[in-house]
Amino acid sequence: MRQSRAFIPTLKESPADAEVASHRLLLRAGFMRKVASGIYDFLPLGTAVLRRIMDIIREEMKAAGAQEVLLPILQPRELWEESGRWSRYGEEMMRLKDRSGREFGLGPTHEEMITDLVRSNTGSYRDLPLNLYQIGPKYRDELRPRFGLLRGREFIMKDGYSFDRDEEGMLESYRAMYEAYGRIFTRCGCAWRAVEADTGLIGGDVSHEFMVPAEIGEAQIAYCDSCEYAANLEKAGYRRETPRGPRPDLRPQEAHTPGKRTIEEVSGFLGVEPRMMIKCLMYLVEDRPVAVLLPGDREANEAKLARALGTETFRLFAPEDWERFPLYLQGFVGPVGLEGARVIADQGLQEAADLVCGANRVDHHLLHVSPGRDFQVDAYCDLGTALEGDACPRCEAGRLRREAGIEVGQIFQLKTRYSLPLRAFYRDERGESRPMVMGTYGIGVSRLMAAVVEQNHDDRGMIWPEELAPADLHILPLDWSREELREEAEALYREARERGLEVLLDDRDERAGSKFADADLIGIPWRAVIGREFLKTGRLELQARRDGEKSLLSRGELLERLTVKRHPAARGKISAG
Ligand code: ATP
Ligand code: MG
Repeated sequence: MRQSRAFIPTLKESPADAEVASHRLLLRAGFMRKVASGIYDFLPLGTAVLRRIMDIIREEMKAAGAQEVLLPILQPRELWEESGRWSRYGEEMMRLKDRSGREFGLGPTHEEMITDLVRSNTGSYRDLPLNLYQIGPKYRDELRPRFGLLRGREFIMKDGYSFDRDEEGMLESYRAMYEAYGRIFTRCGCAWRAVEADTGLIGGDVSHEFMVPAEIGEAQIAYCDSCEYAANLEKAGYRRETPRGPRPDLRPQEAHTPGKRTIEEVSGFLGVEPRMMIKCLMYLVEDRPVAVLLPGDREANEAKLARALGTETFRLFAPEDWERFPLYLQGFVGPVGLEGARVIADQGLQEAADLVCGANRVDHHLLHVSPGRDFQVDAYCDLGTALEGDACPRCEAGRLRREAGIEVGQIFQLKTRYSLPLRAFYRDERGESRPMVMGTYGIGVSRLMAAVVEQNHDDRGMIWPEELAPADLHILPLDWSREELREEAEALYREARERGLEVLLDDRDERAGSKFADADLIGIPWRAVIGREFLKTGRLELQARRDGEKSLLSRGELLERLTVKRHPAARGKISAG
């Protein structure tokens, strides 16, 4: 590609609303443009990177036995009614009507569509296992689209689905996808970590997310510093240490705590550690009050709460809820003598004793309270969020660490979550009808592109890993008006392309400084500088974008080095020729 003709509209200034490096750099370097909130055009350089990610995915999917299909984006309502997700998916699904009033959703994911395809075209155990995938746009009307490609409303996803005869088969398909995903992210030049995950709106029970560690990542991960355990914080367990005070024999006793409402205030005032207190949170759950109890040093984990409550329709008491239920005194509410509310408590309180909690009386708290003895709990569940330094739930000695990450992929063991309601059955060897056992596997292709930039950039621009770069080589003749430089650049451009390399030739009549600045911004991993050194010695300078390492080489040497990098299999052929 000749830069003078290429559509690479770079920007001098960072766009005001771009808060993270990938968003800023991809816009500035002319890889993409914003159309509307969470909706972007991909320009030639961005498209080139996407294509390389897709090439890697296709190679790995093929190697793992998956077959590519392409399903419609428009999905009929009736199909989503079959799974029950037409209403459950809520406002995140974009919906529309055709001219005769039939309703459709723009596919946020394709479990219903693929299940419909497979149920109508496979009937026998001989047709299974089957693994189908596609790469294409997905639509989710995200509440907060942000960070450019990291959370879009239209984005590119690879989504795959496996169909097996039984659970054993499904586990095998799942394992194959897990491994293929690891290879894909490694080839894309990412550091990544697979973590146990919540299953959310997709359903099923076992799931893993593939996380790319990054400070700006919206996902929080807990991992063990000693064993393999790693989980999304929405799911992460920890070994609890039961809080037991020194006087479990004493009965509850009121303490005057004027104006002290929060755990911090009361703990400071009474001189008790937060973990020796009971945090009592009031939630409105499907319009009814529920008291949620935790050790005072824990945050409630709303993903865990959703699982414990069996619904996603709940919220922490809002001002109007406190008004509506004046029985509950904000800041002084506690489980002893609490009326009219279901009480659920974190497992950490199960054997606890001699704690402090709200007294349900203004400006008062209770000392020496023991769950079970002084109040009843309707259910003990896992509700707390794991903290840095908690004991690992899996091994003896390990401690949990926390880090932020970008979720670039997720895989789910769906089992019969869709095949039962959609009646995707097959006939087994004995002619009996059985539900297919499914898995589902997604990669955020456009998000991955941004995640790679988050991990691979410096203050001058992007640094593309070789497998994903929009080109293999950037040729920079430093003075386009000099014929010797121009001729060498053209020769290198021609010969590199003959060897199957993707090349960007900076044939613009620009100052050397601005050529370098643009090259740094765009981030092609290798550049051939043709300038003073060439005029003196006839050699080119091969520079690495990542560390600036330079080598002086002849054109032939330079070509050979890059060709071997890009096409290792060509090594023998090249030296022979
Ligand atoms: P998140 O929790 O980040 O909203 P998700 O768990 O809802 O994502 P999945 O349903 O697992 O997403 O979709 C598969 C993959 O698609 C995700 O792992 C992620 O990489 C990508 N993805 C999901 N939502 C978006 C989005 N709004 N923009 C870009 N990529 C996305
Ligand atoms: Mg996910």
